[in-house]
Amino acid sequence: MENKLIEEVEHIYGIDSWGKKYFSVNEQGHLCVQATAKTESLVDVYQVVQELQKQNVQTPVLLRFPQILKRRIQKLHECFEQSIEEFQYEGQYLPVFPIKVNQQKIVVESLIRSGKKFDLGIEAGSKPELITALGQDISDQALTICNGFKDQQYMNLASLGVTMGRKIVVVIEKPFELKYLLHLKKQNKPIPYIGFRIKLLAKGSGLWEKSGGTSSKFGLTTMQLIQSLEWLKEHDLLPYLRLLHFHIGSQITEIRKIKAAIREAARVYAKVKKMGVDIQYLDVGGGLGVDYDGSKTSSDASVNYTVAEYANDVVYTVKEVCNEESVPHPYIITESGRALTTHHSMLIMDARDMISENKNDDHVQKFDSKKVKQKVIEDLHYISNKISVKNFREYYHDAVEKRDEMQSLFNLGMLDIQDRAFGEWLFNQISQKTVKFSKSAKFVADEFVELEEKLHNKIVCNFSVFQSIPDHWALDQLFPIVPIHRLNEKPTQKATIVDITCDSDGEIEKFVDLKDIKHALEIHDFNESAPYYLGILMIGSYQDTMGDVHNLFGTVNQAEVFYNDEAFTIQNIQKGETSKQTIEMFGYKPEQLIANVEQKLTEKDAQFAKDALTFYKNAFDDYTYLGL
Ligand SMILES: *Cc1c(COP(=O)(O)O)cnc(C)c1O
Repeated sequence: MENKLIEEVEHIYGIDSWGKKYFSVNEQGHLCVQATAKTESLVDVYQVVQELQKQNVQTPVLLRFPQILKRRIQKLHECFEQSIEEFQYEGQYLPVFPIKVNQQKIVVESLIRSGKKFDLGIEAGSKPELITALGQDISDQALTICNGFKDQQYMNLASLGVTMGRKIVVVIEKPFELKYLLHLKKQNKPIPYIGFRIKLLAKGSGLWEKSGGTSSKFGLTTMQLIQSLEWLKEHDLLPYLRLLHFHIGSQITEIRKIKAAIREAARVYAKVKKMGVDIQYLDVGGGLGVDYDGSKTSSDASVNYTVAEYANDVVYTVKEVCNEESVPHPYIITESGRALTTHHSMLIMDARDMISENKNDDHVQKFDSKKVKQKVIEDLHYISNKISVKNFREYYHDAVEKRDEMQSLFNLGMLDIQDRAFGEWLFNQISQKTVKFSKSAKFVADEFVELEEKLHNKIVCNFSVFQSIPDHWALDQLFPIVPIHRLNEKPTQKATIVDITCDSDGEIEKFVDLKDIKHALEIHDFNESAPYYLGILMIGSYQDTMGDVHNLFGTVNQAEVFYNDEAFTIQNIQKGETSKQTIEMFGYKPEQLIANVEQKLTEKDAQFAKDALTFYKNAFDDYTYLGL
């Protein structure tokens, strides 16, 4: 019985589809993370949050599961190794982690450590990223790939990497970058391997489609490729050219787009190879997507392929083209970022309040209609009583008219505020009934679908969309959201989520769903007597570093969680930014602010002023989010 109920609730949230192998629900109805490949290595997220509370670490808190990073790199490597064996591919596979996907030290170092035995390399897209990459301990075989727009200093850093004994590849994005290589040569500095980023006709799909195609801001056109080859030859630099690279965007939702790009790029590789150039590496970029909604479709929040299928298609397609062209099979490099880091982190936040217009307020129902001074209110009262499944369409439309009339009367000063309050309440009742009746029809008109969306409750959660899931704000990207406890109880309400910023964009009104997009999330009834926690899952890629301090809400508390010996351990707790830190970011000096406040306070009673000042000073050191 109990398990049936849990299964049902898992299905409501989609945990049984997007959660596969990583998330599940235990008998207590708590969300669990499967930390390692062993199915019994479950971490009870609710217990983790309670343990953190004991250690004075409040929500919102970001939990990281480094063992999941390990699982992901293992998985990627394993899939490529299997494909190589299956198709008797004669080259090797080398993964590279693009640092921009998550530059946090704690993430990068953890991934590098787990990936060392697979020769995991690093991709940098800027000078600071390259500076970081050069200081990481990667294997001798591992590559350091330098993408992005470059200047001489960037090139000199790459050259320094060669001096360190690293395998550095500088990927030329634009012809103007070639001159920096020549400068290295003239100065007798070590010259890194050279790669060319090529513009393909093939395009990606999904939210990041613009990164590929001929109009993308990156890469060499075919003409530029030929000219650059000639240029290298002219300057005796051609022997350094080792790699061809393309990247058609992130979260490619359709496998056929990937295949088309690989086929085109492999063909370019073969043609260049046949020109006598010693190209050895074919770098297929990133784009390997994540199934956020579990639908296995080409919707933006999903992908219609698995990691294994991706590996098969890459390896098989490259092999096929190379065999046709009779050229050796190159090393295959992937720059998959999203696929490695997405699953490893989640944000836990506490729900603070339910904003609902739909509560049945007793005192309103006792309203005496005889005291109503305007007929329009009586009319709404009548509609509210008489609306039914047979007449709801007409009656609802009448009610809309009455509501507008009521508004005009109020603006003209002919309706008092009590009548208006009752009128609004009646209109809400009518709307709710309309939505209910509209569902009995075979086809629900758009008008009523929209009405239902407007009526949703909102819950206020202690977090900032701008800090923690910026891509939801900017691109409407969806992330799985689920309560981390009470999953053995059926949710009784539906709500959208608003954050604590003073920005109307700080909200979540779209949620992952197997078939479509949900416009409200199922939630449990909650009140102030007990905390209600929700988790935003799969936020380990891009969200960590693109966050913004809107309203001066800073970074959140965070901790690493491991599973060892049948229990979890919490390590590396990092407190989120304090008000002092976010304030200072914008040029304010706390001493100055304190001095200003002190000056105003000195005119007050001495002890009172002293206490008030201490209080003000202490407030600087608090967490920026809502306290208990
Ligand atoms: C961003 C980026 C990646 C990572 O892409 P994912 O979709 O996260 O795998 C790889 N290569 C380049 C050049 C990039 O700009």
